Parts: sequence; structure tokens; C-alpha cells
Amino acid sequence: MRYPESLLRLTRALSRLPGIGPKTAQKLALHLAFQKEEAEGLREALEGLRSLGVCPACGNLSEGGLCPICQDESRDPSVLAVVETVADLYALERSGEFSGRYHVLGGALNPLEGVGPKELNLEGLFARLQGVREVVLATSMTVEGEATALFLAEELKRRGVKATRLAYGLPVGGSLEYVDEVTLGRALEGRKPL
Ligand SMILES: [Zn+2]
Repeated sequence: MRYPESLLRLTRALSRLPGIGPKTAQKLALHLAFQKEEAEGLREALEGLRSLGVCPACGNLSEGGLCPICQDESRDPSVLAVVETVADLYALERSGEFSGRYHVLGGALNPLEGVGPKELNLEGLFARLQGVREVVLATSMTVEGEATALFLAEELKRRGVKATRLAYGLPVGGSLEYVDEVTLGRALEGRKPL
């Protein structure tokens, strides 16, 4: 059968989202086709994303200029947590155990996928080390995350900055994003020098 073109377009767009298969995409599209108010709310929320940018200091999401964490004077600027993604930053924030600031790398070293030091936001990190006494390497417990942490530990040592790593006990091979708050909080508390 032939579906209406607008429904097809929406279904295709939805099916490109992570975790949404073609059946779920069609279900959502049909739902929105009949729930005009919800569709309107969604449209407005999507439009709001246009004003969302990246914090020039740390790489977190921001509504223009510095992000709320970089603007927050009560946070300790002398401790930086280096994370791979904004999702990981949010995960650490949920643990409520970190009161320093962040630096988002935009991924992890992965030579096989063509991700070298130049592809990550490293220059930005090295440029903001003045007054920093500790960098917590909060990259994932994956092969790539571990390699990135070791690489950064060396680089930081050369620059005279103490590097620590989240305590072990976090699931090996996993992204921080999916670790519960309590475990993450403990890993932060028990961080070890690298
Ligand atoms: Zn920021």
C-alpha cells in the first residue's frame, strides 16, 4: 500500500534516531499524526535545539557562550574531569560527587577508526591547564578509553599536572553513560593517581 508522503518522511526521520527501529518509527509517526498538540510541542522543542551550541571552554552543550558549569563560580576550577562525550559528563553530574569542571574530548583515541590526538579536543585541554592541580581521567573503561587515559597521563605529566583515573570497579568495556550514579560516585571518590 501507499503511505501518505508526510507520514513516510516523518517515519524515515525517526527511524534514523538511535535505538528506533522501522516499526517503532512508524508507530511514533502515526501517534504524532493523530496527536497534533504533541506534534506541535515536539516541533517547538526541536526548533529550540537551533540555539544550542558548544561551550568554547569545555565542549559541553551551551545556549550560547560558556556553559552553566563553566559559569558556576562555586565549582572548583583547579580540578578538571576529562570525559569522552557530553553524555558521560551528564552521567558524572548525576553522581553528584564531582564539584570541579569538565573537558569534553569528543571521543577516544581509536587509530583503527582514524581517530588520533588531532581529532580530539586536546589542544583546548592543554590550553586551560594553568591553575589546574588535578585532571581526573574519566574516559570509558574500553580499550580506547584506557589508551586515551594513558596517553593523557603522559602528556599531563610532561606539563607538571597530576593525573588521576576513576577507581576500578566500573564495568570493563563499558561507557560511563550507562553506569549507575552510586557506582560512578564511588569510582570518583576512590580515584587513583596514574
Ligand atoms: Zn563549559
